[in-house]
Amino acid sequence: MFLGHILSLHFRVFLNTMMLSYNAFSMEFFAERTYPMSEILNVPEIFGTDVFNEATMKQRLPGAVYDAWKSCIATGSQLPLDVANEIAEGMKQWATERGATHYTHWFQPMTGITAEKHDSFISPTGDGRVIMEFSGKELVRGEPDASSFPSGGLRATFEARGYTAWDPTSCAFVKDGSLYIPTCFFSYTGECLDKKTPLLRSIDDVSREAVRILRLFGDSDTKRVICSVGAEQEYFLLPKDLYAQREDLRLTGRTLFGAQPPKGQELDDHYFGTIRTRVSSFMRDLDEQLWRLGILSKTKHNEGAPCQHELAPIYTDANTACDDNQLIMAIMKKCAAKHNLVCLLHEKPFAGISGSGKHNNWSLSTDSGKNLFSPGKTPSQNARFLVFLAAFIAGVDDYQDFLRCTVAYAGNDHRLGANEAPPAIISVFLGDELNAIIRSIIDGTNYQEPEKSMLRIGVDVLPAIPKDTTDRNRTSPLAFTGNKFEFRMLGSSQSIAEPNIALNTIMAEELSRFADVLEKAEDFDKALHDLVCETFTNHQRILFDGNGYSEEWKQEAARRGLSNLSSTAEAIPAYIQPKNIDLVVRHGIFTEAEFRARYAIQLEAYNKIVNIEARTMVDMAIHQILPAAVHYTRSLCDSVAAKKSLGAPCRAESRLLQELSEHTDGLYDAVETMKEELGKVPRDAKAAAWYYHDVIVRGMNDIRREADRLEELTDKSFWPYPTYSDLLFY
Ligand code: ADP
Ligand code: MG
Repeated sequence: MFLGHILSLHFRVFLNTMMLSYNAFSMEFFAERTYPMSEILNVPEIFGTDVFNEATMKQRLPGAVYDAWKSCIATGSQLPLDVANEIAEGMKQWATERGATHYTHWFQPMTGITAEKHDSFISPTGDGRVIMEFSGKELVRGEPDASSFPSGGLRATFEARGYTAWDPTSCAFVKDGSLYIPTCFFSYTGECLDKKTPLLRSIDDVSREAVRILRLFGDSDTKRVICSVGAEQEYFLLPKDLYAQREDLRLTGRTLFGAQPPKGQELDDHYFGTIRTRVSSFMRDLDEQLWRLGILSKTKHNEGAPCQHELAPIYTDANTACDDNQLIMAIMKKCAAKHNLVCLLHEKPFAGISGSGKHNNWSLSTDSGKNLFSPGKTPSQNARFLVFLAAFIAGVDDYQDFLRCTVAYAGNDHRLGANEAPPAIISVFLGDELNAIIRSIIDGTNYQEPEKSMLRIGVDVLPAIPKDTTDRNRTSPLAFTGNKFEFRMLGSSQSIAEPNIALNTIMAEELSRFADVLEKAEDFDKALHDLVCETFTNHQRILFDGNGYSEEWKQEAARRGLSNLSSTAEAIPAYIQPKNIDLVVRHGIFTEAEFRARYAIQLEAYNKIVNIEARTMVDMAIHQILPAAVHYTRSLCDSVAAKKSLGAPCRAESRLLQELSEHTDGLYDAVETMKEELGKVPRDAKAAAWYYHDVIVRGMNDIRREADRLEELTDKSFWPYPTYSDLLFY
């Protein structure tokens, strides 16, 4: 029953192997270093060796089992138990040969990270010995205790059972001595408790609606449309010993205190700079582990801020991309520790220094690899392109708030709109050429470039659309970059599932509305033209190519009626707008209860994070900063007293003493106020979010201001933790 449940969610083939012909990886990254022969990596040889991928299945499973598995995946039918048993046996043999002693159902609960519980393969034989066993039942279904995972009220605490079900479209792999089986996670009553299940539903949904459109353009071959995603991951690396000395970093992942260092990133000397040796050996190690796991790690470089870096994999299907991004984040952390580094995935580890985001590149293509956001060579292909483009623009405009809410997160509040990341206002960047084309479609005028012809969208009449001729606009939250859209609002620590669920669902919605109209049309060309023209006309307001960081854009966006949800507290309630609930329920992505649960969980996460941060500040202020200031004050007092007794001038010490005392008092007062305010948090989660936003965050700023001033005034030898200069320029 559970397997049937899960298989019916999604019928896909192994896209990861199909979509990606493996490219040889350039060795130029390593050019500045030479490695002894024994350390030279044979990348094609190690690539994917720890993955039970389609090629391995074909090689290791009996032919009939492999065929049965393939046909189940293709048709979405239930995997017979004897087939599951044979696959489990093959998997176990393969995994134990790679040193695995355990297996784990690996899932993505609504914490945003992954969860795993390991069971060994051992089975007693009755005579004091064991054999290694793994059954089909154990492969397809697990029953972890769900009570410690957020459910947003979906699962009453007395019914703690949760279930995991194998996602046969994502490859199992071996890591750290365990066989990892990617799974979906849901409650006893069948509600999803994870991020994978709705993502798989949305992948199916957008495929179904996109295929309807393709049929109208005479494409009878395409069986599935594939959502492809490439997620660029930014991160910071800090020396482990310095990190360990800061309670704020250890407890919250970011610095809650820290005066600005004399040097920041103003010289632009870090971006694409030479990678320091310690970091480059970390990166080499990381790449090797990722490649072994079949993850297409491609690009690595230093980012804008000191100690900041980026890793970009080659894109793959959205489900695999989401699994891979989770693995990338987890392995980055583990691998950093091995190199005496700590990997920070927080959106804003340092005030005044660029934070980290995750660019989510998203596109749709057919199962034969035709990119549907690529302007084509023929008028028909271009008309199809314009239909997909129009649907995307309409979807983003209609569901701005939904998209915005998927990235609402405490850490991201420091980033969005802070002149380093896109604003909280959603808009779409298309570039000059495409804008000119859309303009002429709206106005019914001639499109002058590159051919002078009347622009009518129809299968027979449409000029060529130039490809990617524009500059990239780095300030746009959602930019068209040639054949894909780059969504730049995601925070670096966040799961990529939610925004992709939103993008797929809004796309499916508009495509389905389009298909409803076009399928009934008597004159297809005319209907197509009218539809595209009307869509562009009605949704022009979402298009913006200017500077997204500017103040004028905020005003202009307000005039256009675009939503500007500038903080998590403001954004999250928009999540459960009736129109958004209606959308996800109609498309079968979430039930209303599931969707409301996400809202509750996101709200709760925000409240908890701010609460922990505020309490950490109080703790550090009382136990570290105030004592440091007091000790230094004491030494100044001694100095002033001694000098006075000798009649020596002590203007500097007296002034310092004065200022230190003022800010010591200021810090003490701010901490006392905070302690009081923390006692008054409203019980209701929504009210609490506003309270944290309005009262607690402001109080945190007050504490920080006083403490950072004290840092500037205090002798370094008295200061209790490494400063920004120590951390960023080690
Ligand atoms: P930039 O840093 O300029 O944004 P990168 O080349 O670093 O660009 O990253 C672009 C990302 O987009 C890569 O992960 C790449 O694989 C991905 N990408 C390219 N084509 C597609 C596509 N059709 N669908 C999804 N992602 C894509
Ligand atoms: Mg990018």
